[in-house]
Amino acid sequence: MNEMGTIQSVHAATTGYDVREVRKDFPILQRSIYNHPLVYLDNAASAQKPKAVIDAMTKLMTEEYANVHRGVHWLSSAATKRFEAARGTVQRFINAREDREIVFTRGATEAINLVASSWGRTNLSEGDEVVISWLEHHANIVPWQMLRQEKGIVLKVVPVADDGSLMLEEYEKLLSERTKLVAMTHMSNSIGIVTPIAEVIRLAHDRGIPVLVDACQAVTHLGVDVQALDCDFLVFSSHKLYGPTGIGVLYGKAELLSEMPPYQGGGDMISSVTFEETVYKGIPQRFEAGTPAIIEAVGFAAAIDYVNALGLENIRAHERDLLDYATQRLGEVDGLRIIGTSAEKASIVSFTLGDIHPHDIGTIVDRAGVAVRAGHHCAQPLMERFGVAGTARASFGLYNTREEVDALASALQRAQEIFG
Ligand code: PLP
Repeated sequence: MNEMGTIQSVHAATTGYDVREVRKDFPILQRSIYNHPLVYLDNAASAQKPKAVIDAMTKLMTEEYANVHRGVHWLSSAATKRFEAARGTVQRFINAREDREIVFTRGATEAINLVASSWGRTNLSEGDEVVISWLEHHANIVPWQMLRQEKGIVLKVVPVADDGSLMLEEYEKLLSERTKLVAMTHMSNSIGIVTPIAEVIRLAHDRGIPVLVDACQAVTHLGVDVQALDCDFLVFSSHKLYGPTGIGVLYGKAELLSEMPPYQGGGDMISSVTFEETVYKGIPQRFEAGTPAIIEAVGFAAAIDYVNALGLENIRAHERDLLDYATQRLGEVDGLRIIGTSAEKASIVSFTLGDIHPHDIGTIVDRAGVAVRAGHHCAQPLMERFGVAGTARASFGLYNTREEVDALASALQRAQEIFG
């Protein structure tokens, strides 16, 4: 057995986490690409799905599918139970107080747009300030710019240091009498930096300012507890958490959600409709107009059950090992520069390689069966901050191995030889 095998089996023996067994749960990992075993390192964009998720969705469609909430028939009531049970699973996963604090959306993007449109339009007026950071995904920039266009609000942006870390003192200086909301990522999708979100929330709350947390990456790689964080809103998507696409979450404190007007109108969100007047349901239904993503909700819950069964602690330790190993191995490749060198990071290595265009890096490693992301990662301002048009990004999930990091390092060495 090689050194890596030994380390992994020691890890498995001490934590019970056996990545070789875990990999068997993901059918797609058994396939090959260009005659190489697939090495999937694009988890920050979207994660692969375990059989438990695929089976839960198939079972619902095969045995218990109907529209929810409206029907009196057996199937509708069975599907409604499963859909609402999924809400409870999400609630427990992020430790929300009540299940009505969980609003199902299409994803994190829609969840932020919901807050900007509903809470933002109601509570913000010209000159009011929203504080974001340089680490944000476009999903947490553009909705606020749209509100700026409409309402004349001001966007303030917290800078990052050369190692990618959030400049907390600068953040504190940006908080003013006019600050009405802080909307910030817990973990950067493009360079993996983890922000001191608990401190960010505390400093905002000291001044009576609510905080929205973009937990798209954090929920998968770190885990979140909304009561411990005391955040006011929190958003994430199922598909990065090994669940299906098409569903995500807006968590909001009940007292905040209850005061917000609906985001969209239609069926399922009303108590009564006449041509003169409509009475809306309470939360969360008033934010879920139309037929929801029923099958996806059930798959989402199965993904959470799967992650819980493996244990977030174990997953975190496994991914930390991969991150440290990748940082070391990639650091040995000539001309490779890692963007985001702060120790406060998780599961993502973003890099440039000499003058090679990130797309060329992505294409060459792809020929070796290695899937990485190449480009600006929906974080163009951050790329600008580091003086690059884009990077190549390897992002690790619960099924990746040290051998896969080695495969990436070898493919990069080859790219360096071809282009360097
Ligand atoms: N925020 C972060 C940090 C992300 O990583 C992503 C997806 O890449 C999003 C927001 C947007 O998520 P979605 O496209 O699932 O709505």
